[in-house]
Amino acid sequence: MNKYSLKFQDKKIFSLIEDEKVRQRDGLEMIPSENYTSAAVRECMGSILTNKYSEGYPKKRYYGGNEVIDEVEILAQERAKKLFGVPYVNVQPYSGSPANLAVYLATCNPGDTVMGLNLPDGGHLTHGWKVSATGTFYKGVMYHVDENGRVDIDEVWRLAKEHKPKLIWTGATAYVYQYDFEKFVEIAQSVGAYFAADIAHVAGLIVAGVHTSPFKYAHIVTTTTHKTLRGPRGGMIMVTNQGLKKDPELGDKIDRAIFPGLQGGPHDHQTAAIAVTLKEASTPSFRTYGSQIVKNAKILAETLKKRGISLIGGGTENHLLLLNLVPIFGPGGGVIVSDALGVAHITVNKNTIPKDPSSPFYPSGVRLGTPALTTRGMKEKEMKIIGNLIADCIDAVKVYRVPANKEERTEFLKKMRKEIALNKILLLVRSKVKKLTRGFIIP
Ligand SMILES: *Cc1c(COP(=O)(O)O)cnc(C)c1O
Repeated sequence: MNKYSLKFQDKKIFSLIEDEKVRQRDGLEMIPSENYTSAAVRECMGSILTNKYSEGYPKKRYYGGNEVIDEVEILAQERAKKLFGVPYVNVQPYSGSPANLAVYLATCNPGDTVMGLNLPDGGHLTHGWKVSATGTFYKGVMYHVDENGRVDIDEVWRLAKEHKPKLIWTGATAYVYQYDFEKFVEIAQSVGAYFAADIAHVAGLIVAGVHTSPFKYAHIVTTTTHKTLRGPRGGMIMVTNQGLKKDPELGDKIDRAIFPGLQGGPHDHQTAAIAVTLKEASTPSFRTYGSQIVKNAKILAETLKKRGISLIGGGTENHLLLLNLVPIFGPGGGVIVSDALGVAHITVNKNTIPKDPSSPFYPSGVRLGTPALTTRGMKEKEMKIIGNLIADCIDAVKVYRVPANKEERTEFLKKMRKEIALNKILLLVRSKVKKLTRGFIIP
């Protein structure tokens, strides 16, 4: 054994990583914002590029020794521009949230009004929600979805006319429809606002041509690189031709917002991994991957519906499903079902549903998706099996109800968790899950 290896230097962390490897291998990863990266991406992330400081941009650095790093970053930029067809990109954001904050710095003054989708309706914190910095330093006006979970575009029109925002966001974390980018740009233009499309969840689907594209409409497009795009944790900000037409300085403003506005030295190992991701995403096999994600999500939705489970929107147009658990559990069923699926090693997350009769901590829905399972090579056949396993788990716990009285809830959860950990059906599903995952290796 190499005495500098992790195994030798820190047994504790080494063994925790081994434990996580087993968890990722033996369970079904169905959180729609997660994925499995390629070995090539992980090689970059573990590389010596992490040793370098490179504040600034290619050929304009504040530190010496950046000849090689410049090439890495330029390559990442060129690949992003080509893949998405944009004239400008910044690949330095540490993740999606700082990428979005940089857009505010570049386009707004503190106190300016911005518009985004309400968080409990599926929106993201960084679109002006009150507990986020974006809702503290800017005035967030939130639009909503209707009872089918679709953005209420009439309300967006009305709010835009009333509040005259400087910046309007589309994008969501729990939305089963494709976005209508064309309508949004019309609204933004009517009040002179910047229109930013946050494609964090669906970037990979857009690349694969199975989701509407914002690049003809939005001024700015932000994304994470680690969701359907299947790269390292990271973010990118792109400016489109329309964006440069609206404001020729917009690219420079974004650059200054990231550095020195918001960040210090870029994570060069991450930049290299993003470059590799973009190369992988420009292959025909990635297009096949993206369209399989959506096919899988549709079959999963059909299977669940056949088993009597209600879905927001009655299905999905992308990679994710939102289960409406009210008909089975009344308010708050998301906690029960996400815990039950957890026992069976099916990882999902509890989520609010439109007009949720309960609260964000005890929401009435569950959100799940197919990007990670599709990376493992699972197809329609496996989705049918998995849909039925999920339905079995829901059946196994349908006697539980979250107490209406808030004081009884902690005790209820404690008792329920103890019981379901020993539930025979859930444990049987767990063993079936383990067997199923065996044929599907992780990259
Ligand atoms: C995930 C996500 C983000 C933020 O990404 P982080 O990398 O977690 O900071 C931003 N916007 C949307 C719509 C997202 O889904």
